[in-house]
Amino acid sequence: MINTNEILNKYRLKLTKSLGQNFLTDINILKKIADAGDLTQEDLVLEIGPGIGALTVVMAQKAGSVIAVELDKNLMPALKFTTGSYKNITIINDDILKVNVNALIGSWKGPVKIISNLPYYVTTPVIMMFLENNLPIERMVIMVQKEVAQRMSASPGTKEYGALSVGVQAAGDVKSLFNVSCNCFIPKPDVDSSVVRIMIHDKYQKMINDRQVFLNCVKAAFLKRRKTLINAMSSYPELNLKREKVKEIIAAMKLKETIRGEELSVEQFIQLANLVSDF
Ligand code: SAM
Repeated sequence: MINTNEILNKYRLKLTKSLGQNFLTDINILKKIADAGDLTQEDLVLEIGPGIGALTVVMAQKAGSVIAVELDKNLMPALKFTTGSYKNITIINDDILKVNVNALIGSWKGPVKIISNLPYYVTTPVIMMFLENNLPIERMVIMVQKEVAQRMSASPGTKEYGALSVGVQAAGDVKSLFNVSCNCFIPKPDVDSSVVRIMIHDKYQKMINDRQVFLNCVKAAFLKRRKTLINAMSSYPELNLKREKVKEIIAAMKLKETIRGEELSVEQFIQLANLVSDF
């Protein structure tokens, strides 16, 4: 097990708040996150932000291969020291939003699993990058702010339900696994954290005729959530829809004209997007 304080002192590291550097120090939590990956030698794990490698080495004891992408070059000496004896760990010093993830996965034949204590300032773009680009991923096990976990698994009609809920639920089955106390980190974050698992499936993906139209419908519906769906969609430039057309679509779906986007289920968003793309 990596002693975080010892490594930080040895390498005289100062953690950077703007990079979301809150490092996990509790071995039980590290093991619980790795266990949620159900790791075997068949698996390739892609970790975003390994920090000084505390979670990386726990996962490398079970997985076939771990590729860890870390943005902060100041952490490289420490990270290479802690992970150096593991032949199945590859460290990439880059920004996860800029690397070619397909190239990293390469020709790996087994399941690809994203497992990470995410840097919170980029949580949504990172999740959406993986889900929107149709990457061949079996699951994501990610630590996020508790409030983001609630948004991911929210039901229609609740205040937490939004574009992130629909985007994530259209890609897989979402489950909030457990909460993590702020005392398990150095330094302590100001927010509560939760570990979430998304088991990716293509049930909904197969039903969507045009992904871009689907994403635009979801974005339009939640951009101004107090607007009716008719107003929201007919004023969203990328959809280029006249009010009368949206009214016809809403009528075809047998929905009331006053309905708001936040009331639609994932299936209804898909139906809506398919009617829009058929027009
Ligand atoms: N995995 C470690 C742990 O659990 O203790 C560290 C997690 S810490 C919450 C997030 C890590 O992500 C930091 O090491 C930070 O430098 C790194 N990071 C921040 N932005 C990143 C980006 N765009 N791409 C890759 N890594 C990033």
